[in-house]
Amino acid sequence: MKWPVFCFLAIGFGAVSAGPAPMALSAEAAQRPNIVFIFADDHAYQAISAYGALSKQGALNQTPNIDRLAREGMRFDRCVVTNSICGPSRACILTGKYSHINGFYNNTNNRFDGSQITFPKLLQAAGYQTAIVGKWHLVSEPTGFDYWEILPGQGQYYNPPMIRDGKRVQHTGYTTEVITEQALAWLKDGRDQDKPFLLMCHHKAPHREWEPNLKHLDKFEGHEFAEPETLFDDYSGRGVAERTQDMTIARTMTDRDLKLVAPRALTADQRAKWDAYYDPRNEKFRAAKLTGRDLVRWKYQRYLHDYLACIASVDESVGRLLDYLKQAGLEDNTLVVYSSDQGFYLGEHGWFDKRWIFEESLRTPLLVRWPGVVKPGSVNGDLVSNLDFAETFLEAAGVDAPQEMQGDSLGQILRGQTPGDWRKSFYYHYYEYPGPHHVRRHYGVVTDRYKLVHFYEPDVNYWELFDRQSDPQELKSVYGQADYADAQKELEHELARLRKELKVPEVDPPETVIKPRGQKK
Ligand code: CA
Repeated sequence: MKWPVFCFLAIGFGAVSAGPAPMALSAEAAQRPNIVFIFADDHAYQAISAYGALSKQGALNQTPNIDRLAREGMRFDRCVVTNSICGPSRACILTGKYSHINGFYNNTNNRFDGSQITFPKLLQAAGYQTAIVGKWHLVSEPTGFDYWEILPGQGQYYNPPMIRDGKRVQHTGYTTEVITEQALAWLKDGRDQDKPFLLMCHHKAPHREWEPNLKHLDKFEGHEFAEPETLFDDYSGRGVAERTQDMTIARTMTDRDLKLVAPRALTADQRAKWDAYYDPRNEKFRAAKLTGRDLVRWKYQRYLHDYLACIASVDESVGRLLDYLKQAGLEDNTLVVYSSDQGFYLGEHGWFDKRWIFEESLRTPLLVRWPGVVKPGSVNGDLVSNLDFAETFLEAAGVDAPQEMQGDSLGQILRGQTPGDWRKSFYYHYYEYPGPHHVRRHYGVVTDRYKLVHFYEPDVNYWELFDRQSDPQELKSVYGQADYADAQKELEHELARLRKELKVPEVDPPETVIKPRGQKK
């Protein structure tokens, strides 16, 4: 689905005459859209009110601004990622390629090769002003941007140092607000007003350790969040990988995650406000001497309390950016995308974190507003992916995507016309083991209904098959069951076909080997 420019123009803009467009028609003549790509880190779709509320008390309008994008644009209900972890997702988005092609498999010892073709480079070459502000997390310096200001590594929630075009800059304040302000400053004063632009505003929040803005510490005070049905999952019905992970709320969360220890890097004034909020509540918790399930329940409530308060700031950021676009008269000609690098567990299966091919980590939120193109309030259930973002942005800008990109533009889907040959299955591959949270390497194929998964390490090697129709929470593998023999055979065939088409190496390449700590990367 790599469309030539004239084809896009004819369909995308009614004012441009249809039929064989004259080659003299410049892309500028069709007013190429600006692109604002707002991105969060670890933002679970379950934590966006447009995707459904979490609170037992009924609808908690947690994300009014992100919800505006759903109301005024398209909400994608089945956007899946190629490899559910930070750096690999970002590398996939930039290149439109899987980890085994772009070379960024894991966060532990890979470095993004910035000499490869990325969508910002192609937009820049086509006359776009390009900027990224916020989290980058790809080790090497950004390429393809006229302006960049990034957090080093994961960054911190308060008073962040950032790196602006190669030079260190020290900021004071809450990082989500700092990133928003720097992004707005570039929009207002930093760019060439005569050119279309790409702005990537990439937040650190709500990544662990979920440290809220001081003004939002009490935002969810007194709320009791609904517990997921699988908070006390015992992993029966699944294999050793699921049973031996290290990402449970019960065992893995640290005192810092739970705000029983204050974050580093607060100023004295910030620290005083922090302590004034958490100290009395922590004292009460300690006095209660909770154990067993009661303790897990307390941890879950504290986790949601802090996680959602972090999202409140991300949501404000979206509101500020949308308001600016409106004030500046840019609203009608700007494509606004909101997404996250992957999904996240909010207590489902007893977990936090991501990594698995399972639903909460495989899926990521995706909301797109594009006035005049996307019908407001539309909802899409097609199997789309972060693999498709690069080609979508390129098509929107009227730039041909290189054949080697492995996704497809969402252009027709955004126009409400899903192509007849749109994908019905999707390949997933996770590599970061040994690594944090002990999630074993696995790959698999996903369809609307099924997931066929292979954990393939020498000591942990087995297959699983999940039927999401009869088992939406993915609690029991039906692999090898006679009832599923036909489905299994079909999925095995599809998996082999996808691995071949996507050029997945038979054996994991040396770059995927995770070296023990202390060994040179
Ligand atoms: Ca992430």
